[in-house]
Amino acid sequence: MRVVLLGPPGAGKGTQAERIKDKFRLTRIATGDLLRETVRRGTSLGRQAQDFMLRGRLVPDRVILALMRDKIREGVSGFILDGFPRSITQAEKLDKLLEAENKKLDLVINLEVNHNEMISRLKGRVICPECGRTYNKDEFVDQPLICKDCGTHLSQRSDDNPDAIEERLKVYLRHTLPLVDYYKGKGILRSISGKGSPQGVFQRIVDLLYSPGSIGI
Ligand SMILES: [Zn+2]
Repeated sequence: MRVVLLGPPGAGKGTQAERIKDKFRLTRIATGDLLRETVRRGTSLGRQAQDFMLRGRLVPDRVILALMRDKIREGVSGFILDGFPRSITQAEKLDKLLEAENKKLDLVINLEVNHNEMISRLKGRVICPECGRTYNKDEFVDQPLICKDCGTHLSQRSDDNPDAIEERLKVYLRHTLPLVDYYKGKGILRSISGKGSPQGVFQRIVDLLYSPGSIGI
């Protein structure tokens, strides 16, 4: 099964992708993590990527696609993509990349979240710099901001500052939202409400994947 998870910034893609990965034994390919990892390693690709991320800009396709191709060539068969593609151009390049490897996408899950909810989630988001797990500050009333998995102090993502959030929303509306129609046209898009608790959203995704007429698992 090869799945793409779509949705605006702050829709909870990371959290859901992680759960889907575990339940359906897929490899999660999160470009955000891939990029952060590359940035940390300080390679030349990483330094280029960092420059764009700090300004909330899209990292150039050639950088992301180079990372993706490596990942898929590692022998990954079933995967869930989270944070990619982010534009029609990227989607077309992804189709070509998969085609060259004799693969194709089975399903695109579109998480729908309204504007205000999106903003408030992004502003409260904190991430574990060690293991990458994300949280909302609301989960830590009167408690220290410490990762529940590894005990590391949580911090805000460098691209979650107010200016970068604005920029990412603009970029999303202009470039990523058109993907909904792109995948609708291919007949593989399913939309899910991203409102409510992570567990509730995940249950809707599981129901979708097990529903008759959905793709076979
Ligand atoms: Zn952690």
